Amino acid sequence: MTLQGTLLIGQQAVTGSQADIYAVNPATGETLPPRYPGGSRADVEKACQLAEAAFSQYRETTLEARAQFLETIADEIEAIGTELTQRGAAETGLPEARLEGERGRTCGQLRLFASVVRAGEWLDLRLDPAQPERQPMPRADLRQRHIPLGPVAVFGASNFPLAFSVAGGDTASALAAGCPVVVKGHSAHPGTSELVGRAIQRAVAKCEMPEGVFSLLFGSGRDIGQALVSDPRIKAVGFTGSRSGGMALMATAQARPEPIPVYAEMSSINPVFLFPEALKARGNKIAEGFVASLNMGAGQFCTNPGLVIGLKGADLDAFISAAGEAVKASNAQTMLTPGIHEAYQSGISALSDHSNVKEIARGQAGSGPHSCQTGLFVASAQDFLADDALQGEVFGASSLVIECQDSDEIQRIAEQLEGQLTITLQMDDGDLNAAKALLPTLEQRAGRILANGWPTGVEVGHAMVHGGPYPATSDSRTTSVGSAAIYRFLRPVCYQDLPTDLLPEVLRDDNPLNVSRLVDGKRES
Ligand code: NAP
Repeated sequence: MTLQGTLLIGQQAVTGSQADIYAVNPATGETLPPRYPGGSRADVEKACQLAEAAFSQYRETTLEARAQFLETIADEIEAIGTELTQRGAAETGLPEARLEGERGRTCGQLRLFASVVRAGEWLDLRLDPAQPERQPMPRADLRQRHIPLGPVAVFGASNFPLAFSVAGGDTASALAAGCPVVVKGHSAHPGTSELVGRAIQRAVAKCEMPEGVFSLLFGSGRDIGQALVSDPRIKAVGFTGSRSGGMALMATAQARPEPIPVYAEMSSINPVFLFPEALKARGNKIAEGFVASLNMGAGQFCTNPGLVIGLKGADLDAFISAAGEAVKASNAQTMLTPGIHEAYQSGISALSDHSNVKEIARGQAGSGPHSCQTGLFVASAQDFLADDALQGEVFGASSLVIECQDSDEIQRIAEQLEGQLTITLQMDDGDLNAAKALLPTLEQRAGRILANGWPTGVEVGHAMVHGGPYPATSDSRTTSVGSAAIYRFLRPVCYQDLPTDLLPEVLRDDNPLNVSRLVDGKRES
């Protein structure tokens, strides 16, 4: 397909009227055609108008029709073929094989949500039958279900151009919930976004969904992104990106006459705790696994292990030395955008220049203009505890090892950690008691705690939590990956004493859709 450089508003392809956006191949610095003229506020207005118009019909689609729509989107994305991974690779510097895997994950995610929609558990149906004879007060008939919030604004992320972008987890979960979606595409991969956006447009037409159920806008975040979040028809926001971007959108959403929820995934350094017995028994192996995880996707994973904590001593020294050797052997990788590369360089320089941080090793220097040269640094727990800046995310392959004098210092570090997406424990049986003592603190700090694995690579399933306290996310009560992500875009409604004819079908006595319900506190068989 020839890319056309247009916004996709409902079923229309619309040429923008604002400043041009061009994708840049980060491996070469070359500008990639076509140009994408940015959208105007009028375009935001039109997309929101269509989304609002689509909402009343889309929210009433049957579970089966909605599930088929999600599956058709997946089919259409697969049908794009190699053009998608080739364009994605040119726009992001990511290898095509990685993008092939990401496409599988994106389509798998859409199909997972289709199965979730069909099963209907997310409606969370609850019936408390009337008790007219109850003393001292009768009980009314109460029935609860979840309904979609309304049109959702989704900001595509730079680091997963498929799985967290136009048809990524935010879009899939919002559509599954019954919410139309208006995407603000990431300016770094407009061609990839257009290809996926057109696949969704085709699915909308094939499934005879109302056209406003999906629109894709390009343009400056500070202009059309802000306009989108300010639009009164938008009822929730999904975002993955920088802390400053997420915070700016939260401020806008809160300042509206009707404030709305913003589900922003922002920054996390994903601490790894090295327990003494594990370090003694298999320090080299842990170092190997750690550096492989650190280098994944040039370190541009939200779950990149950017902090390592262990007890100072010969075993930690051996780990640092083995990890340092592996870092030195690490090949340079192209970073996603010139801006991300610049931010990485400045983060690395801040660590290198810090008087209390020692550089252990740097990876191979690259020849491309935007190469990531892996960095490994070390600091004492005392210095780490004294300087909040050392907890800042350096987005890219960079990690800081913290040497602790004793378990009290490890505990103090755990207590002082900002909110995280993940915390990893490298532990053996002999470390069980130490890990048990730390766990209650760690639970307060992270959305996912894992043992003897690596945090990169997030399974898309029913039990996954990709979330965590601020600044990992803006709302620690939810997840942006996995089937539970649907709850972000739903709210409960209780129907009290409504006549049967007014009740939603799923709440009627005969349970016509045969969806599991909680009746008087007990699960209906
Ligand atoms: P970003 O700068 O936050 O941009 C993400 C999206 O939000 C873009 O569409 C951007 O629009 C928009 N945006 C940014 N600031 C905004 C504002 N004030 N108002 C409205 N919209 C705004 O993120 P990025 O471009 O992906 O990467 C920059 C940095 O973000 C990285 O260096 C890294 O530190 C961090 N990051 C973190 C993660 C993570 O998972 N932890 C993932 C990706 C990035 P424009 O198109 O105008 O830029």
